Amino acid sequence: MTKVRTRFAPSPTGYVHVGGIRTALYAYLLAKQARGQFVLRLEDTDKKREVEGSDAHIIKSLHTLGIDYDEGPDIGGAYAPYRQSERLEHYIEWGKKLVKKGRAYADPYTPEEIRAFRSEAEQNKKAFLYRHHRPENPPEWDGTRPLRFKSEPKACAWHDAVMGDLHAGEEVIDDFVLIKSDGYPTYNFAHIIDDLEMEISHVIRGQEFIASTPNYLNLYEALEIDRPVLATMPHILNETGNKKLGKRDGAKDVLDYFRDGFIEEAMLNFIASMGWNDGTEQELFSKEELVSKFSLERVGRSGARFDEKRLIWMNGQWIKRLELSDLLKRAETFWGEAGQKASEAERKAVLTVVQDRLKTLTDLPNLTEFFFTEPTPDWKMVDDSKQLAKVLYKNRLDLLRSAAEKLVQVSAEDWNEETLQNTLNELLTDTNTKPPVLFGLIRLALTWAPFSPGLPETMRLLGKEITLSRLQSATKSLGEERAG
Ligand code: GLU
Repeated sequence: MTKVRTRFAPSPTGYVHVGGIRTALYAYLLAKQARGQFVLRLEDTDKKREVEGSDAHIIKSLHTLGIDYDEGPDIGGAYAPYRQSERLEHYIEWGKKLVKKGRAYADPYTPEEIRAFRSEAEQNKKAFLYRHHRPENPPEWDGTRPLRFKSEPKACAWHDAVMGDLHAGEEVIDDFVLIKSDGYPTYNFAHIIDDLEMEISHVIRGQEFIASTPNYLNLYEALEIDRPVLATMPHILNETGNKKLGKRDGAKDVLDYFRDGFIEEAMLNFIASMGWNDGTEQELFSKEELVSKFSLERVGRSGARFDEKRLIWMNGQWIKRLELSDLLKRAETFWGEAGQKASEAERKAVLTVVQDRLKTLTDLPNLTEFFFTEPTPDWKMVDDSKQLAKVLYKNRLDLLRSAAEKLVQVSAEDWNEETLQNTLNELLTDTNTKPPVLFGLIRLALTWAPFSPGLPETMRLLGKEITLSRLQSATKSLGEERAG
């Protein structure tokens, strides 16, 4: 078996979104599965489109997701350099080889002349093909003019590891530019040379390159080289599946997801399963499982839907599975103001209680601040609650008082979840109320937060003294609310 070497070859023209990361991840998984290498190559030949700092940003995105490459611009490797702008002489050398073989020539025309050819074709309602104007005696190529490929127009058929058997007619074959007059190669040429020299076995890339593939095949033939396996990824579609994913639907910078409280395991799992599954019902896959189970054959041909709700669900599942000490580390920058000031032991105790309920780490302040600091009563929350809005003032007061009277009888030693749950159940009978009303009201009186862990856990962690004093403050503020 030939060795597997895959690459991720982004252009440093901005941040990487989930589509780009999916390509990188599949290439990574394929290489790791075969104990091969995964290479990062920066395709920086279009200086006009380059965005400063995006190479560092791409590298950071891959590191944050744990998509580690074996060779790349910042770490080197046996096939260095890995930045196309540092490989210009390689393209020139291959360009010269093609000239020698009679398969490339210097373009003698000015841009105006080419424009005139194009508009002539348009007027005659014909597709413009440069090869129809191929010069008979091109000037010698001295690097000041573009170098063009001398194509051999013919129909072609090829196999794509994802898209299956494909074909195209000779009308799509043309004499494309290999090297521009500024000495930089085009993507069309550079990637083929680099994939060859870097011994890339599988080219995994987006759907936008499929239309040019017949031209690439023509060039592989002219170079007399074996081509790598080609695997084309379908687009990622928006949530409703009716158009390509745009910025607003989630095609944002992947690093933004980390800022928004998503964790690596969930991101990898989610991105991998956009358009791939292992043929079973399994939804949660660790990175190790992805490495062992991934296959290009099971990547779908039609666009995969970007379902943010599913991502949020997965994130909650992966947060649940974290070791407490690990969660503590990852939560570090997400605490609210009071949580930030709390001790590690306090934070740990709180995390134990909320871990199951965290969907993203950004939920932390809402879900935990009341453990660290006295919340301010906000009766609007009660009025806005469907269950509680209809409970009259007097009943609210009675319920809070009954709760305090009942709970004060639980001794400090018995202040545990089981006893508290039983006490709350008794209180339901005593007051003849329904759980959503009684527990909903107590929950708000203790937390004044939109979400919180289960009531017995919350009370256990707050402790007897604070639980009672908060019930009292709520009762007092209810009176003030009424008076005001
Ligand atoms: N530089 C190309 C891009 O960023 C890469 C395509 C490829 O993987 O060959 O779209």
